Amino acid sequence: MIKSFSYSASPAHIIFGSGSLSRLPDAIKGQGGTRALILSTLHQKEEAERIASSLGPLTAGLFTDATMHTPVGVTERAMAVYDEVGADCVVAFGGGSTIGLGKAIAYRNDAPQIVVATTYAGSEVTPILGQTENGRKITVRGTSILPEAVIYDPDLTLGLPVAMSVSSGLNAMAHALEGLYAQDRNPISSMMAIEGLRALKQALPEIVKTPSQLEARSEALYGSWLCGTVLGAVGMALHHKLCHTLGGSFDLPHAETHAIVLPHSAAYNAMAAADVLEPACDLFGGSLGGGLYDFAASIGAPTALRDLGMKEGDLDQAAEIATLNPYWNPRPIEKNAIRGLLQRAWEGARPQP
Ligand code: NAD
Repeated sequence: MIKSFSYSASPAHIIFGSGSLSRLPDAIKGQGGTRALILSTLHQKEEAERIASSLGPLTAGLFTDATMHTPVGVTERAMAVYDEVGADCVVAFGGGSTIGLGKAIAYRNDAPQIVVATTYAGSEVTPILGQTENGRKITVRGTSILPEAVIYDPDLTLGLPVAMSVSSGLNAMAHALEGLYAQDRNPISSMMAIEGLRALKQALPEIVKTPSQLEARSEALYGSWLCGTVLGAVGMALHHKLCHTLGGSFDLPHAETHAIVLPHSAAYNAMAAADVLEPACDLFGGSLGGGLYDFAASIGAPTALRDLGMKEGDLDQAAEIATLNPYWNPRPIEKNAIRGLLQRAWEGARPQP
């Protein structure tokens, strides 16, 4: 029987497809924008400059210092530029770091946001902002944070390095997997989660073989949109909590940490949420944790936290922090079991069922 649910569709406008970057001027105007501040990281500065000049008078200015984890100091500098150049909207060109900066600006001044997404992290379709101040990452939610329009042009992902594609793709899959057992899941979020997992499972091995294959890039971006939408729609549990702890307190890189932890968090919850995880379990050969681990290893994903520079001596503290505040998870959070999970993730061992 279908259990009771409530469902709100995300109001974001999605523009998808090869060549869809050409629709950016319309997307800006569609949000009432006339002068956009273009945002990027330093790494993507050249492409951002090309976009800025192609927009002509729709460009008010450029800010290319977007930084991982959205430090408040960077946001304040970007806000000053926004005011100086008389911008009336932002265009975030990039992955979660650049999108985070656009969200942080909109959180403060309600600027319309148009995102051109170039990774699979999924932030562009969530009303969630994680920002850091004095070394602490704080997460806020709000309607002004959700970008109004998103362009997904797979042409822009052809050059996303394979290692980043793989980790970012697994990061997206983690949103879908946790969405399947979310307490507030609904039939639509579960459908999107399964379809997102399927698309990424199919696309990532193809991307590893031929990184510039447009069809696989398109499939992966489609999957990442679905998985990101799930993240924005329903609550997350153990997996995201662990990754937040490892990233926030031990400075581990975002996508890679998700990629390593996912098989272990999935194995932890596999029995407790067996019914709702069944379609995902089938996708990965009948054993969720082991199947995900084998899949990740087969596409060259990192598998061990120690390879990211995590110290074994910090695992006790990580287990402590991750279990400090109680939160809902399909299987109760048991500190010893979490410590064991972290040990296996640190070593890169195949998860126990
Ligand atoms: P990122 O945005 O930090 O990008 C990593 C690097 O890859 C950057 O140098 C970037 O410029 C470069 N890059 C991006 N796209 C590229 C492309 N197509 N080709 C070549 N280089 C490219 O990485 P990310 O994993 O997308 O984002 C991580 C951040 O996003 C974290 O801070 C994380 O907390 C946040 N995040 C937030 C949410 C949310 O809903 N709030 C969701 C997911 C991630």
